[in-house]
Amino acid sequence: MRYSGAGDDGFTGGFVDSHPAAATEVLPLGGTRRRVAHARPPALATWPWALAASVATLALLLPIQGFVARPMLLAERFVPGGGWVQALLLSLYAAFLLHRMMDPKRSGTWRRGTWLMFSVVFFGQLALGLAGFDSFLMTGTLHVPVPAVIVGGPAFRGEGFFMPILFGSTLLLVGPAWCSHLCYIGAWDALAASRRKRPAALPAWRRWSQPGVLVATVAVGVVLRAAGAEPGTAAAVALAFGIAGIGVMAFASRRLGAMVHCTAYCPIGWLATRLGRVSPFRLRIATDCTECGVCAAVCRYGALEHADIARRRPGPGCTLCGDCVKACRDGFAEYRFAGLRSDRARALFLVVVVALHAAFLGVARI
Ligand code: SF4
Ligand code: SF4
Repeated sequence: MRYSGAGDDGFTGGFVDSHPAAATEVLPLGGTRRRVAHARPPALATWPWALAASVATLALLLPIQGFVARPMLLAERFVPGGGWVQALLLSLYAAFLLHRMMDPKRSGTWRRGTWLMFSVVFFGQLALGLAGFDSFLMTGTLHVPVPAVIVGGPAFRGEGFFMPILFGSTLLLVGPAWCSHLCYIGAWDALAASRRKRPAALPAWRRWSQPGVLVATVAVGVVLRAAGAEPGTAAAVALAFGIAGIGVMAFASRRLGAMVHCTAYCPIGWLATRLGRVSPFRLRIATDCTECGVCAAVCRYGALEHADIARRRPGPGCTLCGDCVKACRDGFAEYRFAGLRSDRARALFLVVVVALHAAFLGVARI
């Protein structure tokens, strides 16, 4: 086994086998290939990365607990000082989750499960808040929990840039992983898509529908503002958009087993996958890839069409979910971070995304 080194973009290196062993195998699409035995480096020790995830979670939460005037961690609202304890418990949770997700074979299950759990906690708090328990609301000023409001809300109000700044910050850190690990709605689309074991092809029109919805979202916000619409009217429009999105999940994502809502409908998905390139993390396919297509058969974001694999990089819809990393038994689908070995790049990615997930679990609410 040798490391092929970084290419021009600093991301195209990877582990490749210099002693391939021949074996012929039937492919999902009916073809055959000569299987390449791909020696891997020894597994990384988990505990340093788990410790890093724990520390990163504390680094996110302790300033919030210490310096934000209104208690943001829920426990602080019920027991003075409880926020410190909650921050500590969340940091331990981050270490535990990181430890579990370091195993590529199990990381997909943990990703989807904890992502859905976050969404349940998020909407559970909203339900309690609406039932009269104000402590479970962020400030008491409600907004519609639909991701499109991240851009539509400021377009309507002409102010209120907290969510765009929060969203932009996560893009800097983990790029499009917002749409595979962190968003409170995306977890529903993943649940709907999971009804089918293997995804069908996503519609080609998603390439224009999603940016089209983005333009329409901003335009509607601006027009409502110019027309002097009441906030209640804008909220009703946002709610109708969100309900239509649930319809997309129920009828299209469930039928195709693919993330139709998140790749064809939600405007924030388009922003996350395009602007998310500011993040230093990448998913790449090693040059020795045999183009067998096994990874394409698991990508629910439609980011591994044949041309993408031939180019050795996923299409623009990739959300760094990592499902293809598990699927490629030869280890050719890899996370990259300039200057790091691919297994360390993956571990670093998990540290950051798990810390963000744990912090969101503590402070994200409506
Ligand atoms: S596409 Fe929209 S709903 Fe889906 S995960 Fe991204 S922001 Fe959330
Ligand atoms: S290319 Fe891989 S990491 Fe990217 S969305 Fe598809 S399965 Fe996930």
